[in-house]
Amino acid sequence: MSESGNERSVLLVLFGPPGSGKGTQAEMLASRSGFVHYSTGEVFRGHISKKTALGLKVEGFVVSGELVPDEIVLEVVADFLLQHAGRSIVFDGFPRTVPQAEGLDSLLKRMGRELTRAVLIDLDDEEVVRRLSSRRQCRVCGKIYNLTFSPPQKDGVCDECGGELYQRKDDQEDTILARLQVYKQQTSPLIEYYQRQGKLVRFDGRSGRDNVYQQLTSLITG
Ligand code: AMP
Repeated sequence: MSESGNERSVLLVLFGPPGSGKGTQAEMLASRSGFVHYSTGEVFRGHISKKTALGLKVEGFVVSGELVPDEIVLEVVADFLLQHAGRSIVFDGFPRTVPQAEGLDSLLKRMGRELTRAVLIDLDDEEVVRRLSSRRQCRVCGKIYNLTFSPPQKDGVCDECGGELYQRKDDQEDTILARLQVYKQQTSPLIEYYQRQGKLVRFDGRSGRDNVYQQLTSLITG
């Protein structure tokens, strides 16, 4: 992360189908490498549970697995960026459309910043369904578990804070398939968008959490 001996901030976009491990990798970058982890999905879920005006506006989209309209997303991101000028940021689940990616580029340009890399964590459909249907999240601290690869020590209870584990409504099978469709139609065009900018890097989501993390860290230190 250093350039001519000076610390410079890094801006990473992580994208890929739902369940590819973006959230886990972003969390690891935040806890181990000082990144700010910014998940638009978490921001929306927070507003929905607090029943704010934004929460009421986006709830229908989030619950059904459709995308929240670009203008709403970009407004939320613009606010966030202003509050985190100069920090290293990992964007998790944003951008999700080409207009959002263009919006991000122009917001960054106005701030004199530029995206470092866009990392695609790829995963096949069958594995997406398998992973998401066994995913559980803590209602209190947001920690993510997988009943197959990383189960909690005690059924239904968060190891970290004792909170209740639940299955997100949008992790139920019908919605998973809808989210996959949305990903293919609206988010996968980002592959070409970032390829054209020479910023795209691809990782195989099946290669395992630690492996992907190692590749990510060599990318930002290399
Ligand atoms: P996630 O936690 O990233 O899987 O997001 C959960 C849901 O929040 C998505 O299925 C969308 O409904 C909504 N959402 C999150 N991020 C975005 C985004 N960048 N653009 C549009 N909708 C989003």
